[in-house]
Amino acid sequence: MISAMLRAPIDLRSDTVTRPTPAMRRAMAEAVVGDDVYGEDPTINRLQERAAEIFGREAALYFPSGSMANLTAIKTWTRPGTEVICEAQGHIYLYEMGALSAIAGCVPNTVPAPDGILNWDLIEPLIRPHVYYRAQTALIELENTHNMHGGTVYPPSVSDDICERAHAVGVPVHLDGARIFNAATALGRGVADITGKFDSVMFCLSKGLGAPVGSMLVGSRDFIERARVTRKLLGGGMRQAGVLAAAGLVALEQTPKRLHIDHENARHLAEGLARIDGIGLDPKKVVTNILIFELRPVNGSPARTAADVVAELAKRDVLCGATGKHSIRMVTHFDVGRDAIDQALAAIAEVMTQPAHAAQA
Ligand SMILES: *Cc1c(COP(=O)(O)O)cnc(C)c1O
Repeated sequence: MISAMLRAPIDLRSDTVTRPTPAMRRAMAEAVVGDDVYGEDPTINRLQERAAEIFGREAALYFPSGSMANLTAIKTWTRPGTEVICEAQGHIYLYEMGALSAIAGCVPNTVPAPDGILNWDLIEPLIRPHVYYRAQTALIELENTHNMHGGTVYPPSVSDDICERAHAVGVPVHLDGARIFNAATALGRGVADITGKFDSVMFCLSKGLGAPVGSMLVGSRDFIERARVTRKLLGGGMRQAGVLAAAGLVALEQTPKRLHIDHENARHLAEGLARIDGIGLDPKKVVTNILIFELRPVNGSPARTAADVVAELAKRDVLCGATGKHSIRMVTHFDVGRDAIDQALAAIAEVMTQPAHAAQA
């Protein structure tokens, strides 16, 4: 058993790889369930009540995935032929199958932002004038923490300002808060406090919080009632899913208070990486559990490709993912402790002493 655990790979590909804890499995086994399409699953109802309470909202709704919860929010706030403003590397734009267009019928209107953090000056020029033959801006979407910018965090004053100005021109704002508890931890603030001005908020139970399945959408009672209809339309009406929600409840109550450990591990990893020749990143920018680093030329040798380094690390039981030709993402989570981080660093240092693969020279 112990040797099997020692041989398990150090999996830094994503915080989605976390497995349910013994407490979650116990709660799943013991969950009281009912038919949720009839609103009769007490465990799902409890999870929804707790999520609404924690976010200081009227209501919440349980989803099988974050993508479905984001799509539901988009489809609920918009109609076909309208525009959704988001950051150019946004998850809804790049990693959700183009569902905002394919299913909600919306046109994405994107703008790149430094560190993925939008502000009103970047958003305002994208808002369409009220001319009858122009596609209208129906929704603004922000992502906190920003996944593909390395887990960056919105200063609450910036996201509050965007929401206030958007509301002044009649546009709702949805938050993709897949990792909002990581943002709250980094800021030392509560999730209700930093998301209070958004019209709807999605967050994942299945990322750093460690649940096997599930995401939540929170908002007003009226919005959530409309979202429930959209969820059913998308095939997301579930029956005795309280067995899953039970793990989600444990995740929601227990895990947020330990996320700072993942952040400390990510910073430790970043500081170690920054000392390795051929790797470029600024450890001070690593404030949550995601880091993305660049592979750079060293002493006249070309930069290693991410595909090559990822493959060499996999041979040493360290798993991570390429995000570009010369960039790699690593994500810390509760299945990777400090010892594993140090082992990963040793493996990376070894791999980076190899010459660039002949094929790429
Ligand atoms: C993971 C993630 C989602 C939702 O993903 P699912 O895999 O569909 O649960 C949404 N937004 C961001 C930023 C994410 O990282």
